[in-house]
Amino acid sequence: MSNKEEAIEKKESLNFIEQIIEEDIANNKNGGVIVTRFPPEPNGYLHIGHAKSICLNFGLAQKYNGATNLRFDDTNPTKEDIEYVDSIKKDVEWLGFKWEDKELYTSDYFDKIYGFAVDLIKAGKAYVCEQTAEEVAQFKGTPTQPGKESPWRNRPIEESLQLFEKMKNGEIDEGKMSLRAKIDMASPNMHMRDPLMYRIKKDSHHRTGDKWNIYPMYDFAHGQSDYIEGITHSICTLEFEVHRPLYNWFLDQIAEEGKVRPRQIEFARLNMTYTIMSKRKLLQLVEEKHVSGWDDPRMPTVSGLRRRGYTAESIRNFADKIGVAKRNNIIDVSLLEFSVREDLNKKAKRVMGVLNPLKVVITNYDEDKTEELTAINNPEDETMGSRSIPFSREIYIEQDDFMEDAPKKFFRLAPGREVRLRYAYFITCNDVIKDDNGTITELHCTYDPLSKGGKSPDGRKVKGTLHWVDANNNIKAEVRLYDRLFKTENPDIVDEGGHFLDNINPDSLTKIEGIIEPSVKIAKIGENFQFERLGYFCIDDDTTSEKIVFNRTVTLRDSWSKISNKRK
Ligand code: ATP
Ligand code: MG
Repeated sequence: MSNKEEAIEKKESLNFIEQIIEEDIANNKNGGVIVTRFPPEPNGYLHIGHAKSICLNFGLAQKYNGATNLRFDDTNPTKEDIEYVDSIKKDVEWLGFKWEDKELYTSDYFDKIYGFAVDLIKAGKAYVCEQTAEEVAQFKGTPTQPGKESPWRNRPIEESLQLFEKMKNGEIDEGKMSLRAKIDMASPNMHMRDPLMYRIKKDSHHRTGDKWNIYPMYDFAHGQSDYIEGITHSICTLEFEVHRPLYNWFLDQIAEEGKVRPRQIEFARLNMTYTIMSKRKLLQLVEEKHVSGWDDPRMPTVSGLRRRGYTAESIRNFADKIGVAKRNNIIDVSLLEFSVREDLNKKAKRVMGVLNPLKVVITNYDEDKTEELTAINNPEDETMGSRSIPFSREIYIEQDDFMEDAPKKFFRLAPGREVRLRYAYFITCNDVIKDDNGTITELHCTYDPLSKGGKSPDGRKVKGTLHWVDANNNIKAEVRLYDRLFKTENPDIVDEGGHFLDNINPDSLTKIEGIIEPSVKIAKIGENFQFERLGYFCIDDDTTSEKIVFNRTVTLRDSWSKISNKRK
């Protein structure tokens, strides 16, 4: 391949943001330096959409030897809280990323941003407006009709300066005045029609306390903070595309020659089937107790996914796989589930557990005997070694693995048929024992002592291999099985008068008692396992010395999507 061809091929494999960055580096823009930022508002826990943005911002800086700032966008004192700040820091670290120095806060720049505003007033480019919110809206016009100028637009600069000072000092009531940029009330872009820069809010702020009575709007804080921090590429979601001219207009007013001038780049936010991604709605789920908290394993939050058993690597792989799009789309949630399966397949220790037990008595096995059999911890990874599991005369198998009137194609246990017990023996079912109601209570089987380890003694084949647990030596654990939190593919779409809460799946959590092999006794909270044939599970935070609690992370196969495909 020629150099040119190679260059073209490389360019094609880059996403559009990487292309922009490589061009900037080639042009030595900003001295070739790359600085990105992740700017959460501390008004909720991070969700999988934020994780996408984190992987993108930190990933780009890693790739191009740059740096990423973690900046809390804390300009709204009403909804923000230190609990959120702490959870966000924890989640970013857990995802495997390091921010530059200490975390940053927009509130640290309130003095500077205030200074920028004063400069704009002095330059005749901002004014204190006394219109009410309703009047501002009325005067704004519509996308097809120009707006009307506020009667306060041309008040003397000196007057605006004095009133802005009074707003700051708390001498003006909320809603009575605001600071607006003087741009163009006839602009085809509504965001350019004299946008609000500051509003009065007398709430206490979680970091600056009662120092401020005015707070900058997003549009007069975000780009300013980017500029102060020397951010080169300010990556945000598509809904900010229409704000970009304003972002640039404000930069034109404040940016000095020779300093880094940030560039805003938009990408499509992550949307996922069966998932709500709005922080406001997630907060509602928590506050109204539809879930047990922000870290409920059914939540699409980073803390919920972590508790559910997702690994950081699986989330990073997922973010990578879905790529960066310029147009809004919706990603199938099964792709996320695929990513965790793929990762846990390599990492999770295999164990055996039975969720719906049926007792099997092996009638030709010595009553007092227990043997230790050898089981492989992970067939994908030899270095994970093996463990021993107890086997005795009574064991449990899964109820589903037995059928009294089994069709030919049922390859599990049935009267007169032989199966393999994983790592143990071949057994044949001889008798089905029932209670007075006709419910099956136990099976009587015989084993072939020559089939130890589950190996055929004479070349005869059995089709089915079952998992099992020793009935005399095991652990009883609470097992939490999860289904999707919402029963519709797009839970935001509701009938008229309906609500996203109407789409909640009432059966998203089932708690059962499972019987698990004793090796899990020493497991730690958060540890991942594969229960053979049943799925991936992890040990939940609710585990105590008395009771182990497991969460099912995912089933082994995407059984759900198979069923829905059949239906189609
Ligand atoms: P809000 O509507 O409350 O502002 P938000 O989801 O935008 O919520 P922020 O805390 O402002 O929350 O988001 C921090 C960063 O994460 C922003 O840069 C935002 O663009 C990005 N982000 C938020 N949601 C998604 C998503 N679904 N996909 C990708 N990035 C997202
Ligand atoms: Mg936001």
